Amino acid sequence: MSQSPVRRLAGALLLGVLAVPVSAAEVNVYSYRQPHLIQPILDEFSKETGIEVNVVHAKEGLVERLRHEGRNSPADLMLTVDIGRLVELVEADLVAPVQTPTLTADVPPQYRDPEGKWYGLTTRARVIITSKERVAEGAIQTYEDLADPRWKGKICTRSGKHDYMVGLFASMIAHHGEADARTWLEGVKSNLARRPQGNDRAQARAIKEGACDVAVINTYYIGNMLEDPEQKGWAEAVRVVYPNQADRGAHVNISGMALTKSAPNRDTAIRLMEFLTGDRAQQMYAERNVEYPVKPGVALAPLLASWGELKSDELALTEVARYRSAASKLVDIVGYDD
Ligand code: FE
Repeated sequence: MSQSPVRRLAGALLLGVLAVPVSAAEVNVYSYRQPHLIQPILDEFSKETGIEVNVVHAKEGLVERLRHEGRNSPADLMLTVDIGRLVELVEADLVAPVQTPTLTADVPPQYRDPEGKWYGLTTRARVIITSKERVAEGAIQTYEDLADPRWKGKICTRSGKHDYMVGLFASMIAHHGEADARTWLEGVKSNLARRPQGNDRAQARAIKEGACDVAVINTYYIGNMLEDPEQKGWAEAVRVVYPNQADRGAHVNISGMALTKSAPNRDTAIRLMEFLTGDRAQQMYAERNVEYPVKPGVALAPLLASWGELKSDELALTEVARYRSAASKLVDIVGYDD
């Protein structure tokens, strides 16, 4: 029995459609995120779609590289952390807006660019940590409390110029205005136990070692420290305080992605973007680095779930990013790092 012409045509079309992606199905990713965080997820994507994902990973310089390569860049998708880096890509005119029903449904508005020039993939809260031994539970509850003179000589942080601190200070400006944010930052500075130094984990260590009692760090570092035998004790010495739960919620930042303007594999890159905001990838991505999925309803890593529900500041990160340079200047004005 011969096939009907319609079925033959459908078959030919199907072959035609399949023939193209098989030869050209790849997507090139420039990633500031470490391979162990993303590779298993990208492998899943390849397994599901047959699309090959090539990753260039680096700690620095990928934005510069993209800029230098210009229209000839092989990069399709940038993966990075911090709203500062994503805005930097937009300002350098290196990214293309993309909006699909899936992406806009998966990623809440506060965690994506209004035009689709970047999308958050995970969030991390900048939380207060306190010494379990020396600070009573509930003694400090808000970022504003960090400026209270009762904490004189008790607080440590990393450099005020680091992206994570600039993000937090920018959110203070966004909520309180520049004058009040300045007064607050002067208050925090006068409470510092030592000159700002070290990374986030070093602040937990300082609490463990008694150099200070209160610090601010990103949530996932608690998870990271617990997995490291040398650092486990630092994490166990501190209590995590979700800030501002009775009002606007904790300041959060994101890891995210952006489609490049020059993307040679635009369509496959968008498929990958949609995969990354889907349930399975969201859960894997968030769990691997103890971050929060951006997509509502996706299960939390057990450690995060154990801390209870997090109320996050819902102010759009584009709004926060607007005050980044003012925040950075404020750090100089108050001599935060001096
Ligand atoms: Fe980090």
